[in-house]
Amino acid sequence: ANRTGIDFRAELNDDQYAAVTSRPGPSLVIAGAGSGKTRTLTYRVAYLLDNHMDPRSILLLTFTNKASKEMLERVKELVPFDLSNLWGGTFHSIGNRILRKHADLIGLGRNFSILDRDDQKSLMKAAIQKAGIDTKAVRFPKTDPLIDLFSYSTNTMQDPREVLQWRYSFDASLHEDILKVGMAYEQLKRESNAADFDDLLYLCYRMFKKNPDVLARYQERFRFILVDEYQDTNLLQAALIDQLAGKHKSLMVVGDDAQSIYSWRGANFENIIKFTERYPKAKTYKIETNYRSVPEVLQAANACISNNRKQFAKVLQPARKSQEAKPVLAPVLDLRTQSQFVAQRVQELNEEEGVPFEEIAILYRAHFHSMEIQMEFTRRGIPFRVTSGLRFFEQAHIKDVAAFMRLAVNPRDAVSFKRLVLMLPGIGERSADKLWREWAAQLPALDGEKLESFGNALKALKPPKKAASAWQQFADTVDELAPGGEPATPTQMIFSVVEGCYDEYARNAFTNYDQRRQDLQQLQAFAEGMTDVEELLTQLALMGGVDVSNDRPAENEDHDVVTLSTVHQAKGLEWDVVFAVGLADGKFPNERALDADDPDTEEEERRLFYVTLTRAKTQLYLTYPQLWSTPHQGSMPVLPSRFIQELDPDLFDTWQIGSSAPNMWYDDEDDDDDYPF
Ligand code: ATP
Ligand code: MG
Repeated sequence: ANRTGIDFRAELNDDQYAAVTSRPGPSLVIAGAGSGKTRTLTYRVAYLLDNHMDPRSILLLTFTNKASKEMLERVKELVPFDLSNLWGGTFHSIGNRILRKHADLIGLGRNFSILDRDDQKSLMKAAIQKAGIDTKAVRFPKTDPLIDLFSYSTNTMQDPREVLQWRYSFDASLHEDILKVGMAYEQLKRESNAADFDDLLYLCYRMFKKNPDVLARYQERFRFILVDEYQDTNLLQAALIDQLAGKHKSLMVVGDDAQSIYSWRGANFENIIKFTERYPKAKTYKIETNYRSVPEVLQAANACISNNRKQFAKVLQPARKSQEAKPVLAPVLDLRTQSQFVAQRVQELNEEEGVPFEEIAILYRAHFHSMEIQMEFTRRGIPFRVTSGLRFFEQAHIKDVAAFMRLAVNPRDAVSFKRLVLMLPGIGERSADKLWREWAAQLPALDGEKLESFGNALKALKPPKKAASAWQQFADTVDELAPGGEPATPTQMIFSVVEGCYDEYARNAFTNYDQRRQDLQQLQAFAEGMTDVEELLTQLALMGGVDVSNDRPAENEDHDVVTLSTVHQAKGLEWDVVFAVGLADGKFPNERALDADDPDTEEEERRLFYVTLTRAKTQLYLTYPQLWSTPHQGSMPVLPSRFIQELDPDLFDTWQIGSSAPNMWYDDEDDDDDYPF
């Protein structure tokens, strides 16, 4: 008998039940896709609460904020307790939360700004300058590969020297300069009182390392640590978990080595293998039943992953009954025909078979593969949501407005300062740099000052003459952010910025001004009810970040819409019907991700394909165009993905689609349906 009346025995299979009810201590759940790993974690949380554990003592780490929200909602349905003290979220959000309390211990202000990719680029540019590299004289790497290099080194906890040596093919004569730029970048971040995404983890790790007493408090608090998608943690994340679990060692991690798809970002699925080395007392649980997919889908997925040499042998048995239908293979002529087929089929599923839109997903390897489909859906009025691509908060106008607030909170934020002054007419790169130096010289005097003096300090700077009146207006706007010296609420701040000077600027700067104006209103609605501007900024930064889906803030998430998503963003999710589109060789696998000398790269792409197939519950459609058109090269003939070619055609039904070219790869057409438009 338990407090909540959940019948754990009935709702879990034996292996899941054993894991859910295990005694505190390290445990590893390793199992294939759709076997209920996430469900096991959810029930584990419910079980702990059911057994009078304090919500405060639980830390739940997931890959996206959305995943953690969904899990906690599920827990709430199971056990009606107040969960506000339970910490759940991504590694980045937890790292941020801890740093906001203790950043000063490692010389960072608690009001630090979070840099996104865009900000990182401008800072990296400045770092190249600062390091005195003459990019005209030498062919120096661009900002993107530099950011990736240092990020990889942080996430794998390796010396950048080592990473340079082994992973990047930059000219060896440039190595010293590259390292110099890295140091300059670190210094600029520090001067700006800013942290990039990697810092949210790395600085947290270092802070704990240097302050064992602080670490001890967190270790004491988090008696139960649970981690989903452990196969995609990198060394730094694993190290952070190990720190936090250092005392009680009551750590449950779940994962599937066959779904590890982030090694390009430093993830290492050996973390799973090494788990039992690091925690010799760990209990290992395996789940061998798949609850998600019909047998036909599972069969195709199992066949796919069996082509990888590097994997633990895992046999997944289907729990669901056959629907007497195989996954569908649909060769189509080109991207346009593909989008027509997909849209048509989606409409039929919805209208004739009663499948809700929200039970349908279109998955692809790269965001731009979805453009045609987006257009076709729009044309036909099929509601959809795109969970990738340019995120709401990464758009220029949203970042512009956020820059005002960032500067108000953290006057040392060089990236925001420059972003803002460069908006003003009559100010170019050189005057912006000069103004920043003048501003930086005033900063020590401003430390600890109230916001109201910022506007005055701005007015004391000397912008170029032609910018004088715009400058005045700019300084007035900054003044408005703190009327009477007290910071306004986030909604008021947005209002002041837009009315103060941004509206005028945006009207001239953007052709689609109306759309952007609406976005800003949406931003205001999002901020509604928040009292603290730092809260808003943190949310903006983390929601716009690397591993978070981009739902527009004010949009109702429960809308009945089709999901369009990259496979990376679809991890851990499931839909009744899945369309995997654009399955041409070179696109999926992506030729740019492949390295002929390194078979692991192909295996990682195959794992990604495995993740794609295993998102489907009942129906799975695989489409591959025979022509692929790009803006630069026109239409090029392409072959079906090698991941399709290597599978037994009997696993699928092949459909002939309208105007498509004759099927070149399967001569057995006996049971093929005709699919006319
Ligand atoms: P992935 O590897 O894709 O993250 P997973 O192992 O986390 O998958 P879940 O998402 O937890 O799997 O579960 C897949 C589906 O199977 C869910 O709909 C879940 O509710 C259902 N399921 C899991 N276990 C059971 C069970 N014992 N009884 C009934 N349904 C189950
Ligand atoms: Mg899962």
